[in-house]
Amino acid sequence: MPRNALFVDRDGTLITDVGYPRDPSRVELLPGVVPVLLEVIARGWALVIIGNQSGVGRGMITADEATRVEARVEALFAEHGVRFDGAYFCFHGPAETCRCRKPEPGMLLDAARDLSLDLDGSVMIGDKASDVQAGKAAGCRTIAFGAVVVAGADAQCPTWESVATWLTGRSGAPQTPR
Ligand SMILES: [Mg+2]
Ligand SMILES: [Zn+2]
Repeated sequence: MPRNALFVDRDGTLITDVGYPRDPSRVELLPGVVPVLLEVIARGWALVIIGNQSGVGRGMITADEATRVEARVEALFAEHGVRFDGAYFCFHGPAETCRCRKPEPGMLLDAARDLSLDLDGSVMIGDKASDVQAGKAAGCRTIAFGAVVVAGADAQCPTWESVATWLTGRSGAPQTPR
């Protein structure tokens, strides 16, 4: 039976956005994120990171640096009991017009195929319009996170506390699969 997922952008949503991250020691979890992810896991949802890392395609960081930063992110969350079901990254630059770079939905579609996810019941959250656009293109509900305001997002959540409120306060929110 397909599971619902919370698709999460990484930089600026799960961790502080430092811009083209290459240094694992600078990885910092954003306030309030851990309890919300634990609750989502407890409800039986999959957790999937969906990230653009065009710094690789632009030649500003190496794929190896990007991989080391991601390993640090996953290790820090693991210390708090949060394990991701998948992490998808696009290393292409904008000029490469790939199918994966958000706002394209390619990474969400790949994750749905790989992990047997129900896109209709899933939610994409991110701090940029391109996150919301990718989520909508994949058929998910969407949360614009942080300061950004995105027309067409299903919710505007400035903090992870407000994400928790939105997720639990509506039908179709995190719950055991139907
Ligand atoms: Mg972001
Ligand atoms: Zn790509």
